[in-house]
Amino acid sequence: MARLKGKIALVTGGSRGIGRAIALDLAINEADVAFTYRQNEVEAQSVVEQVTKIGRRCLAIRAEVTDFEKAGQVVEQVQATWGGLDILVNNAGIHHNEAIWAMNETQWDAVLEVNLKGVFNYIRAAASIFRAQKSGKIINIASIHGLRGRQEGANYSAAKAGVIGLTKSVARDLGPYQVNVNVVAPGIIETDLVRAIPPELRERFIAETVLGRIGQVEDVAYLVTFLASDQARHITGEVIKVDGGQYI
Ligand code: NDP
Repeated sequence: MARLKGKIALVTGGSRGIGRAIALDLAINEADVAFTYRQNEVEAQSVVEQVTKIGRRCLAIRAEVTDFEKAGQVVEQVQATWGGLDILVNNAGIHHNEAIWAMNETQWDAVLEVNLKGVFNYIRAAASIFRAQKSGKIINIASIHGLRGRQEGANYSAAKAGVIGLTKSVARDLGPYQVNVNVVAPGIIETDLVRAIPPELRERFIAETVLGRIGQVEDVAYLVTFLASDQARHITGEVIKVDGGQYI
């Protein structure tokens, strides 16, 4: 179903995992897709090939999300290349598993910088465009751990809770300009990020779901596409979980 015909999207962290699935589903729904990645050229190129095969334009930009100036340049590059921007998906994220008594300053700062400041950087870069054109969709990927605590993940939970607060505030700022700003909060989803957590923690998270399954990247992407479409025009400042009932 082509819900996004003629739209231009930018996804942070689109080379792998959830971001990759989002980029592909936006393209299947007829958006042109630019995405950023940190280092993985090979994976980035394979996303470009897949989007191109779908029949949409694709732009892969190597950019560290923590770099404020670079975020401005990325948004400018998308605008200069395709003449606009309609959809921003803030997806790039990392985690470090550590109990609070062992967490060092570097681990705290790294997760806050990527998972929270990175989201600010791209919203700040796109806000003036969306405000001027009186339209736009911003979808921020947080986590159910932004709604509840995460054992051995105080930095991660704090950053994701911050994303939720940031989203609600930006929804208020940009609402008068017809810009929708929402959070998608996944539970456990099968990606490299989750493959890196201790197996017993992974099993515990899966056991928490009432559906008894680990989520797939497409489960998140389908909701993002809906929120990016005009069918979601009356939804803003919302936090929607995709977690198989893990949180309830
Ligand atoms: P992955 O580790 O599979 O992929 C991360 C993506 O983000 C990659 O494209 C990576 O680029 C990019 N990235 C990472 N750090 C940076 C950075 N500093 N600057 C630019 N790009 C960066 O992660 P997931 O797909 O699992 O996670 C995506 C989002 O979903 C994250 O925000 C995560 O917190 C959230 N989430 C994930 C859950 C899960 O269970 N998987 C659950 C809840 C939320 P590169 O390929 O170059 O490294």
